[in-house]
Amino acid sequence: MIAIHWFRRDLRLEDNAALYKALISGKKVLPIFIFDKSILNKLENKEDARVTFIHQQILKIQQELNALGSTLWVFNGDVLEAFKTLIQKFAIAEVYTNEDYEPYARERDEKVKSFLTSNKISFTTCKDQVVFDGSEIVKTDGTPYVVYTPYSKVWKSKLNEKPIQLFANSAYFGAFIQHEPLPIPSLSQIGFLESKLLFPLPIVNTSIIKNYENDRDYPFKVGTSRLGLHFRFGTISIREKAAKAAKISEKWLNELIWRDFYSSILYHFPHVEKNAFRPQYDTIEWRNNENEFTAWQKGKTGYPLVDAGMRELNATGFMHNRVRMVVASFLTKHLLIDWRWGEAYFAEKLLDFDLASNNGGWQWAAGSGVDAAPYFRVFNPERQQQNFDPHYQYIKQWVKEWGTPLYPKPIVNHTMARERCLAVYKKALAPS
Ligand code: FAD
Repeated sequence: MIAIHWFRRDLRLEDNAALYKALISGKKVLPIFIFDKSILNKLENKEDARVTFIHQQILKIQQELNALGSTLWVFNGDVLEAFKTLIQKFAIAEVYTNEDYEPYARERDEKVKSFLTSNKISFTTCKDQVVFDGSEIVKTDGTPYVVYTPYSKVWKSKLNEKPIQLFANSAYFGAFIQHEPLPIPSLSQIGFLESKLLFPLPIVNTSIIKNYENDRDYPFKVGTSRLGLHFRFGTISIREKAAKAAKISEKWLNELIWRDFYSSILYHFPHVEKNAFRPQYDTIEWRNNENEFTAWQKGKTGYPLVDAGMRELNATGFMHNRVRMVVASFLTKHLLIDWRWGEAYFAEKLLDFDLASNNGGWQWAAGSGVDAAPYFRVFNPERQQQNFDPHYQYIKQWVKEWGTPLYPKPIVNHTMARERCLAVYKKALAPS
């Protein structure tokens, strides 16, 4: 009898919770990965950089396993079909995987679990993607926190009570099944082309973390870690970085806590995936002007900080957090375009796209989410530029024609847009 470790968004061999459990189970371990058609088919851009990234990581894991005399078994298609094939080839006792808290994944895992259970195979999920999951940080009455500050206090006290322990997977690598290397489907076999985007290295730059408090808000500096992509796909361990953060920068630790917080919100309130956390916000009468949406997407709004952010996103798959807040506020409040439109655009473009954090960020900006910016707080994009890019360094990097007659005039007047936004929000939020 063997055990299976099913890789998903935990693409590393070291300090991997479910893989560790599989390796110490006393059984030989067959590692698998499934290119899940129901996820990939939804991606319209066949040069999607995230798929290229996953593919590269799968090749890397394959090399590491080959060096250990083992192999990764990669499937391309339907998840249940993959397990049907596996149970015909192997006597499987157990399947281990790391828990995924997104609604689609939870539904898929329920189906896999029931299929495996009916074949007398156990299905074990482990916490790996977050430091503390949605069930661990709750109020004394068992209900979830919906405000960040008290949540983060409990999170930190829990961390102090029980410092993070890393899993020493490599001590048990001898448990991997010995097998000749199997081929990995090429990108074109799974229906994609290689993206030309560059991926940040999975390295924490300690000086960035030490200076994070002072530098993190300025988009012209390299003042943030750029690790979002690696946390998203588990190519670095969140436990390891949180342990490091706890020692050198509380500010940076706070950001990792936001990540857990939004994951917990999505877990407890799955309706946020499609609807406002606060139902009244779903009655806002969005203008949803398509031409304005296109101008926003292309970085042609005539507001240089907004335009620089959108162009950075389009060119690199990354946008600085401060600028994400500015462009999201601009779309929802100045243009009165439904936050779900912006959320979907970010989901298509961001290398670090994560449903929980993206949804949390957008609902925060629109005012409809947990612990959100109050609706009457409308970012002034010019003031944001004066505060965070005072010498136009970031703007000049991304908006080459800025300051020339080629640069577009503002598509909306700030004062008018602010008043219009307040009136529309007020109408929706007025007690009925
Ligand atoms: P750093 O500043 O170095 O922070 C380290 C890590 O902490 C990040 O990689 C990320 O995992 C986490 N983190 C930081 N800030 C936040 C935050 N506000 N919320 C949740 N986690 C955070 N983050 C995503 O990971 N995926 C998204 O899809 C995403 N969409 C966003 C959409 C909007 C509208 C906004 C306002 C924010 C969004 N964020 C998202 C949060 C944040 O902007 C990014 O995590 C951050 O910019 C990534 O850069 P970094 O890796 O250099 O982060």
